[in-house]
Amino acid sequence: MAFVITSKCVATCDTACIDVCPVDCIAGPIPLDGLRAVPLGERGLRFPGLQMFIDADECTDCGACAAECPVDAIVPDNQASAADVVRNAAFFGR
Ligand code: SF4
Ligand code: SF4
Repeated sequence: MAFVITSKCVATCDTACIDVCPVDCIAGPIPLDGLRAVPLGERGLRFPGLQMFIDADECTDCGACAAECPVDAIVPDNQASAADVVRNAAFFGR
């Protein structure tokens, strides 16, 4: 099993999950430095639809990211929609 980031991340995208992942398997389509340079409240407007994704092949199922997410966007894959599972995998080319 792995964790999946759902579309609840969109418009929040505070990157808190990235800081706590022990295996560095969370990423997004925009370089982290560039994203963090934009104030939290402006990210939704600057980057419409932006969210982070989890690489299921690397995720160790520790749950640290889910505990950190302020909008409960991160769930085990067996509790996520098929669309969210596919979108996370597709980001990593799978
Ligand atoms: S469950 Fe753990 S290993 Fe998997 S993405 Fe979250 S923090 Fe990283
Ligand atoms: S902690 Fe939640 S809202 Fe923040 S980037 Fe990660 S998934 Fe998105």
